[in-house]
Amino acid sequence: MPFSKLGLAPAVLEGVKAMGYAAPTPIQLRAIPLIVAGRDVIGSAQTGTGKTAAFALPILSKLGAHSAEKSPRALILEPTRELAAQVETSFRDYARFVNLKITVIFGGVGYGRQNDSLRTGTDIIVATPGRLLDHLEQGTVKLDKVEFLVLDEADRMLDMGFLPDVRRIVERCPRARHTALFSATIPPQIETLINWAMRNPETIEIGARRSPAETVKHVIYPVADSQKIDLLLKLLDSVKYESVIVFCRTKHGADRVAQLLKRNNHAVCVLHSNRTQREREQALRGFRDGRFEVLVATDIAARGLDIADVSHVINYDVPQHPEDYIHRIGRTGRAEATGDAFTIMTAEDGSHVFAIERFISQKIPRVKLENFDYKYTALFEENKPGRPAGFPGRARAVRVHGGYHFGPARRRR
Ligand code: AMP
Repeated sequence: MPFSKLGLAPAVLEGVKAMGYAAPTPIQLRAIPLIVAGRDVIGSAQTGTGKTAAFALPILSKLGAHSAEKSPRALILEPTRELAAQVETSFRDYARFVNLKITVIFGGVGYGRQNDSLRTGTDIIVATPGRLLDHLEQGTVKLDKVEFLVLDEADRMLDMGFLPDVRRIVERCPRARHTALFSATIPPQIETLINWAMRNPETIEIGARRSPAETVKHVIYPVADSQKIDLLLKLLDSVKYESVIVFCRTKHGADRVAQLLKRNNHAVCVLHSNRTQREREQALRGFRDGRFEVLVATDIAARGLDIADVSHVINYDVPQHPEDYIHRIGRTGRAEATGDAFTIMTAEDGSHVFAIERFISQKIPRVKLENFDYKYTALFEENKPGRPAGFPGRARAVRVHGGYHFGPARRRR
């Protein structure tokens, strides 16, 4: 079904055309008509499925043109500054033929521009909860005209401890409004929020909630702890990548890995929450425009960031929460592109890998890199009877990426 049959306004359809989208993605097909019809919607699609347009396009269509009203009629809440900035950009892209004012509000920057923009009046606010609350307390913004409320990445807002802030913000919005909530998982606290904040919502689940994007090939590289960085360097050398995100567990770890990569002549930038807003923006801009080929990041970058054409994701550290695995590898294989995801695993990581495999109901193939001088690790014993916990099954022997799966003959290299 084409975009033109979904009930969108002609000027919004022009914007979609200018973006070069040929057809709606599954979540757009399901969500757009519901939001246009005024229904509350819960979307549990994965990142990279086109969910921003799924809520932005119907909201833009319903808002129509700029209102003389100073207070916003649509409010989008995002967990991080980067996501807020990205969603604002998407709104501007889709709204290029529509006369609507859009304001982004997040912390870590001055109040001046935000105050100016709020003073002159805005139709749509895209915000992180903390700074929006500051504005509410200072009286620089009112939410009593909000008709559309979007709680995006709700489970991440929960993880980051924002739910009390979110509730305070929702309480300032009129009861008669339309609410959409997007969340990869629906833990009990989100269920409570849904019951409290939404009216008779329709749930849209696109694909299996827990499966990684089908366009991603993912494998695990087991290695001795002392060889992690050597393996990462070798992987970067042996893989034809255009742009790669390397995920680390800690900020300190991310800085250390970035330093080592820099020393080995990789064009690297770093993204984590100890960086200033300016540094974070510079890193993202440089990565997007190709100045940096490698982005080393903590999980703050894992969710939702739309960095186009990431050819590879490398988990330098195994994520501790299974959902983060999905979000991390969701950075590649977005929309129609295909991508590869590698996870470096040491003997310490067994239980986390097992948890991920249970979560996604898939065994992730173990592979070895050719021409890498492996030290022995007990991980190579995985197919033997009495193998260590964390290896629920046996990998098939298939070649991938110049590496190969563990097979019985090659277990002890
Ligand atoms: P999102 O899940 O909203 O972060 O979107 C992921 C990527 O898909 C973004 O780069 C969008 O520009 C792109 N996208 C969204 N909708 C479509 C569509 N209908 N056709 C092609 N690409 C799309």
